[in-house]
Amino acid sequence: MSFDSRAERALPIARPARDPRPGLSGLEPSQLEAWLAARGEPSYRVRQIADAVWGGTATSAAEIRTLPAPLREALDAAFRFDTVADTELRPTDAGLTEKALHRLSDGALVESVLMHYPARPGQRERHTLCISSQAGCAVGCPFCATGELGFTRDLETAEIVDQVRHAARRLALDGRRLTNVVFMGMGEPLLNLDNVLEAVQALADSRRFGLGARHVTVSTSGVVPGIRRLTALGPQFTLAISLHAARDPLRDVLVPLNRRWPVAEVVEAARAHAAATGRRITYEVTMIGGINDTEADADAIIDLLRDDHAHVNLIPMNPVAHTPWEASPMETIERFAGRLRAAGISTTVRRNRGQEIGAACGQLAAERAGEPAAPAVARRRERIVLESAAALRGERSHEQAPVLPAGAGR
Ligand code: SAH
Ligand code: SF4
Repeated sequence: MSFDSRAERALPIARPARDPRPGLSGLEPSQLEAWLAARGEPSYRVRQIADAVWGGTATSAAEIRTLPAPLREALDAAFRFDTVADTELRPTDAGLTEKALHRLSDGALVESVLMHYPARPGQRERHTLCISSQAGCAVGCPFCATGELGFTRDLETAEIVDQVRHAARRLALDGRRLTNVVFMGMGEPLLNLDNVLEAVQALADSRRFGLGARHVTVSTSGVVPGIRRLTALGPQFTLAISLHAARDPLRDVLVPLNRRWPVAEVVEAARAHAAATGRRITYEVTMIGGINDTEADADAIIDLLRDDHAHVNLIPMNPVAHTPWEASPMETIERFAGRLRAAGISTTVRRNRGQEIGAACGQLAAERAGEPAAPAVARRRERIVLESAAALRGERSHEQAPVLPAGAGR
């Protein structure tokens, strides 16, 4: 199948309707138990189905040989064994990064990226999967390829979990296991929090996927009500906040949600989360040349986080077609990191993986969205330049906060 969806986008194909059958991996064991009990099936069938969903080699209900044929048929009529189809896998970085494009039942496309980290002295090998929580994103950060696409829809619980099952199955072929999952693919996880929480429970449950909850990281652009809800629930996973700038005028432009929940509120909510859960917060800063990489930006972050037990991760921006920006030079990033460290803030610099094919997390969608028309790119670039220039002069944005889907961000 073609990976080049530019062609797909050009064709006026009606999107198929969504498959109404829930995915098996999104069900609580008790829901499956109830369904089986209603059919008069013995309770050990739950284990047989779970074994096939979470391990083994079956790729459909028809292949669960331990079940009688009528039950296989009934299972298939009621549920989907798999909710995502891999359209293509693309390795890069000499096989250290693999990008997967997944097609959902209604034709929506999302991506996941599997990153292999070989063992180092004192650290075992790790296999980290970056997954998507939504098709598209309503937040619209101007340096992000997903933001440019706009919002399509929330992923179902099983659609989130099945990205992980696919990667685990690929790893199992070589006797390897997935060690970490990060929600840093397409979408804003805290705007689809119910499904994200259910997915994390399925991943962490030893009767289901069995990954430690400490091995799941969720990144948010700063949905304050979502952070507060998480705090009330207690530790669910590691929380990462996409900071990018500590000053409101600039953050208004880089993370448009800042116009609704300003940076001080985001950090206050994150601080309360860290205090209540005992978990350190990671702040991510995508480093954009000449935009958010000056000494004044570093000092603003120091002022904001000085008394926190926080960690800052600096990530060079991946090139994105529709922006006029580039990554900060590595020396600038190292200098920035040094300034934060000198102020006592634990800081790492991350090198992006798979940059040459746009496979890094958070930048997954541009390729399949197709090339926007040149005048549209020019207009967008001009707007970004004007907005960021005003922000660098310290002027707050007059733009509205992004319009979120109904019910989002409560
Ligand atoms: N919506 C959530 C999670 C998905 S984005 C969030 O924004 O946190 C995951 C991370 O990728 C975010 O920190 C985001 O800022 C970053 N990112 C997006 N586009 C990027 C790019 N072009 N280069 C580097 N990082 C990028
Ligand atoms: Fe959405 Fe995150 Fe991209 Fe911003 S960086 S547009 S919040 S996916």
